[in-house]
Amino acid sequence: MKVCKFGGSSVAEAAQIRKVKSIVEQDLSRRVIVVSAPGKRHKQDEKITDLLYSCHAMVQKGESIAATFEVIRSRFLEIARELDLTDSLEDALNEVEEKIKAGASADYAASRGEYLSGLLIAQFLEAEFVDADQVVRLTDDGQVHENSYQLVAQRMMERKTYVLPGFYGATLDGTLKTFSRGGSDISGAIAARGVGAEVYENWTDVSGILMADPRVVDQPKPIEEITYREIREMASVGANVFHEEAIAPVKSLGIPINVKNTNAPEDKGTFIVAERDTSKAAVVGVSGKKPYRKVLVEKFMLNRYPQFPLQIQESLKKLSITIDFELKGFDTLALFAASEGEVDWAGLAGAVEKNLNADSCSVGEEIAVLGVVGEGLAAHGQVVGMVLETLKEHSIPVEALNYGGSPITLLVAVPLESYTQALQALAKAVELL
Ligand code: ASP
Repeated sequence: MKVCKFGGSSVAEAAQIRKVKSIVEQDLSRRVIVVSAPGKRHKQDEKITDLLYSCHAMVQKGESIAATFEVIRSRFLEIARELDLTDSLEDALNEVEEKIKAGASADYAASRGEYLSGLLIAQFLEAEFVDADQVVRLTDDGQVHENSYQLVAQRMMERKTYVLPGFYGATLDGTLKTFSRGGSDISGAIAARGVGAEVYENWTDVSGILMADPRVVDQPKPIEEITYREIREMASVGANVFHEEAIAPVKSLGIPINVKNTNAPEDKGTFIVAERDTSKAAVVGVSGKKPYRKVLVEKFMLNRYPQFPLQIQESLKKLSITIDFELKGFDTLALFAASEGEVDWAGLAGAVEKNLNADSCSVGEEIAVLGVVGEGLAAHGQVVGMVLETLKEHSIPVEALNYGGSPITLLVAVPLESYTQALQALAKAVELL
């Protein structure tokens, strides 16, 4: 059996939903269909989920939601009309509007995009609608609860086609709760593990995951195969490819995820797998994250103070500064802090020196961190040299280098202004490996 999740662009309008139907009908094993709320039809368009969040915020401020809800209503009704659905969604829409007006939670409001989308698509596919609050369980802090798998398995036992709305479920006490944004990927992964799917197809609007960010790099190649580990590390260094939390449920059973394009269903897409043959490609991609700042702390005989790195991290956390990774020298510690928002960096350096008894603390200029990711990194042997050579050719200075901390990722920090050039050059270089 295959579980197919269709993202916001795949269900944004009637024409897209027709494509969904033909994809589902082409393969009888596609029997669990997980859907997002209608997304953007074009760049300036609004996502239904965003509109629903706005409605909730308006109610909080005592404003009328009539005009905004009308946009939501007409989007759904227009789709239903164009698909010739007889069972109109009017009642369901009215109920949602009333509940939001009466002060329902933000999670309730946001979840209704997927709920209505699920009702509509189930009708069009002549499939059975399974409400996510019956089978998807979340912990109070919004993580997947283990009970979900069994509930899915029990509920989707028959040889039918099921439609499950993504993005939300309920806590153990029955309160409706959503995952974080983009969370329908997680719902798809839960369903795949619950039914023990042979593959989890994740349908979107690109023919797979690309080797680099297409907004920075011109026409990066799609990745054929990438491991769960690699995708996780790509995401940690900024690649916005797939909801990180959607990996864990399928990873434990080794269910492959196939990222495919609703607009070009014949394209193979990308397979996310447990293991891959690294002789075909040592490196899968290059991603980047910015801006960062390097907080460099010096303390004589650092090794004698095992608690010291933790204490620094904690004091930075209090200032809402997160450290993504660190490099340790003998008597120095370099912490790489995401440099967003207003931070009094000079004051912070002074406080670390004073409160934590550091010999010195300095904060550098803004930098970008690039990650070259691949299971074949170590075996290939030449990747580190190639990366440094490429940066040298472009006269880009290396501010920091982290290799060996992870067996599959090489991190390199460059000045912020060199970010684009470095990413473009490295993306080109790794394609040739
Ligand atoms: N509709 C939700 C969002 O916009 C969830 C999803 O599409 O995965 O974040």
